[in-house]
Amino acid sequence: MAQAFFGGVHPNDMKAATNEKAIEQLAAPAEVVIPMSMHIGAPCKPCVAVGDKVKIGQRIGEPGGFVSAPIHASVSGTVKAVEPRPFSMGGTMMSVVIENDFQDTVCEDIKPVDDPENLTPEQLVEIVKNAGIVGMGGATFPTHVKISSSLGKVDYVIINAAECEPYITGDHRAMLERPEQVIKGATLLAKCFGVDKVYIGVEANKQNAADTLNKTIAELKAPVVVEVLHTRYPQGAEKQLCQAVSGRQVPSGKLPADAGCCIFNLNTTCAIYKAVYTGMPVVRKVVTVSGSGVIEPKNLECPIGTPITNLFDACGGLKDETYKLIMGGPMMGLAQYDINVTVGKGSGAMLAFAGDEEKYVEDPQCIRCGKCVGVCPIRLEPVFMYKYLMKGDWETWRDQFHGMDCIECGACTYTCPARLPLTHAFRMGKQQVNNARMKAKAEADAKAAAEKAAAEKKEA
Ligand code: SF4
Ligand code: SF4
Repeated sequence: MAQAFFGGVHPNDMKAATNEKAIEQLAAPAEVVIPMSMHIGAPCKPCVAVGDKVKIGQRIGEPGGFVSAPIHASVSGTVKAVEPRPFSMGGTMMSVVIENDFQDTVCEDIKPVDDPENLTPEQLVEIVKNAGIVGMGGATFPTHVKISSSLGKVDYVIINAAECEPYITGDHRAMLERPEQVIKGATLLAKCFGVDKVYIGVEANKQNAADTLNKTIAELKAPVVVEVLHTRYPQGAEKQLCQAVSGRQVPSGKLPADAGCCIFNLNTTCAIYKAVYTGMPVVRKVVTVSGSGVIEPKNLECPIGTPITNLFDACGGLKDETYKLIMGGPMMGLAQYDINVTVGKGSGAMLAFAGDEEKYVEDPQCIRCGKCVGVCPIRLEPVFMYKYLMKGDWETWRDQFHGMDCIECGACTYTCPARLPLTHAFRMGKQQVNNARMKAKAEADAKAAAEKAAAEKKEA
């Protein structure tokens, strides 16, 4: 078995509700609301207008810069609105609303690549870019940027199939039901990077998925190796996965590519397969709908932009006592305050919780047990980090306690017996640091502009 990483926790995986349920196709919604930002980087600019007819796979959002990814129509129909709508990351986001005509008309541009076996790395990057593929495990970093910036620098290509967050089982089901997509997608990456083999990291609690992949690898004689990993959260975090599979540690402030590793989510790998072998860009997503508030948990595949209410309706609805909705896993997902948000490229789960699961504590006090230090996979000291942030001293938090290295995995919060909101505080700390950085840059830019204007005036 692969190497263990430092720290981590063993939460109840809560996967039994859906891990034996096949992925179901959700009935297409009457309307999809597609946000123009489903990736890290510049939001897209809508390239359709109200009244336009669109087809499945047609581009409706142009990338806003190099670090961006185009967005495509997920149903055929008529553009009903181009306007800000509730957004799963908070607030509102410019969105394209399409009224479904239920004709499922596919755009004429969608066609498979002629010779998938012999693509050059540059051709694959272009296909990935045009298909709008991003880190579909939730990171949402544009995949073409990741590939192009890593080419020639990495000798380990790793597919992240750890799926270590509790409740989520979409990747597990994809490995069981679509192993050929996974292995052929991984083979495309092996050729692109010129490596002898690609590693797929699967946690030990999904041994049947590892067996299925191994069977397909043998049948296809693919240059792919399945690594069975310890079942421990956050096994699927990039730095931890990199260490578990390659034995290499990613230094503070660096990326896996700096340790010679490039990591792709399993869903991303399937999206690469689809873009090459069918020509279809990212227009659908598998979402695990689960949690104590969901009447009949399921794995559903739906068009991007599907309202989350349609997901819950397909699962028998929500229980009356539901008090919390989370998009993503319970450790790293985001609480949702508006039922009108829709499924995006990075939405792997939609969870609802009911009853008395919330363990909120008024005015929590640290009891100095040190448990948070023992579980932090980055070897940080959450207890002291929290103390300094509560004093408003984010500079000490950043410089002496390396707060910016926090991967927001939530392991410290999970383990803290005093129920301190540690991870939430660290997210806020990062926001403060980023705000200060942007303020300093704006001041420096303004000063430089004023000096330039003064120099020009003097010359004149
Ligand atoms: S949330 Fe941050 S500080 Fe807490 S365990 Fe994870 S990496 Fe460490
Ligand atoms: S786990 Fe919680 S109570 Fe224990 S030292 Fe850390 S912050 Fe304090």
